[in-house]
Amino acid sequence: MTQSVSIDSDPYLLTPGPLTTSLSVKQAMLHDYGSRDTRFIDINQRVLDRLVDIIAGRDSHVCVPLQGSGTFVVEAMLSNFVPKDGRLLILINGAYGTRMVTICDYHNIPHDNLSWREHEPIDPAMVDEYLSKNPLITHVAVVHCETTTGIKNPLEEISAVVARHQRRLLIDSMSAFGALPLEVGRVTFDAVVASSNKCLEGVPGMGFCLAEKHALEGTEGNSDSLCFDLYAQHRAMESNGQWRFTPPTHCILAFDQALTEFEAEGGVKGRGGRYQHNCDLLTSGMRAMGFETLLPDSLQAPIIVTFVMPADPNFIFQSFYDGLAERGYVIYPGKLTEVDSFRMGCIGRLDETHMRGAITAVTEVLATMGVTSGAPSQ
Ligand SMILES: *Cc1c(COP(=O)(O)O)cnc(C)c1O
Repeated sequence: MTQSVSIDSDPYLLTPGPLTTSLSVKQAMLHDYGSRDTRFIDINQRVLDRLVDIIAGRDSHVCVPLQGSGTFVVEAMLSNFVPKDGRLLILINGAYGTRMVTICDYHNIPHDNLSWREHEPIDPAMVDEYLSKNPLITHVAVVHCETTTGIKNPLEEISAVVARHQRRLLIDSMSAFGALPLEVGRVTFDAVVASSNKCLEGVPGMGFCLAEKHALEGTEGNSDSLCFDLYAQHRAMESNGQWRFTPPTHCILAFDQALTEFEAEGGVKGRGGRYQHNCDLLTSGMRAMGFETLLPDSLQAPIIVTFVMPADPNFIFQSFYDGLAERGYVIYPGKLTEVDSFRMGCIGRLDETHMRGAITAVTEVLATMGVTSGAPSQ
């Protein structure tokens, strides 16, 4: 057997996922457990319990896992929790909000859209006004950190507005879960979804839905899909501890180890703290070279940072990207519709050493391109 790429040569992923994971998380996958193996069933249950603990929801919420990438479980949430006679209000300030619209179109879920510019946070006062005028809305969907720009939406305020109007909140916390606080008691919601491979630093392969117990009970029969039926997945797991269809066993073993490391780091506080430090080093290092962030620091989540494209005609994004990749750092093109930009992530198993390394690499690549400043045009 040959190993074509040694672990040492893997790049550092300054992206929104998949992310750099620890060696111990990767090593946890070196087992072939059958789906009915009691060792696997026990680990699976432990993973679900730990995920519920992150939101302090043991008394009120359950965790329903689902095979696939994060979008699979967003689709499952929207298509299960909004009943046939319901109507969803989608709050949009980026590509992941827009993706929820696409999901609703596929499933014929009646919905209204309320949109903001990509660099603007969702305004709870406008949500308040919209709900006052639109009594037919039963559910509201929001993205916690809009990964398009890295903007942090005011989740607690939005949740308070939705609860005051007695509507139900559905949250995509994919890129924030585990790094930004989200706890039952501070935020009221029917369901929140996230995945194994973002701030919890597992490997890709599964998403999960943390659902309020009564709300989940109420979804029985709502699903228009066999695979995405969260209620059925939950019932099956309650009865025999097993997933309905082949579980991503290796992913779950890795996730269990990732959660051990998450807890050892001090949970949301510790994880979020490291990411904030990473984010601060990244933005200050880039600003020192003239780059400008799209967002002011007050709106920036410590997840992924959007930089406005420099004005220097010598700056060619593809060369910049390639130069950084050669030096072991993979970044991300922009996803904005309005502003020409690129993004650098600060999540995953990365710390200040890697952030300093990335800044050094940017300095070197700018020099090879003959770019003297990262400043955008005014
Ligand atoms: C990453 C992400 C998703 C899911 O993306 P996948 O590529 O399907 O894993 C959904 N919403 C947000 C906000 C994300 O950051």
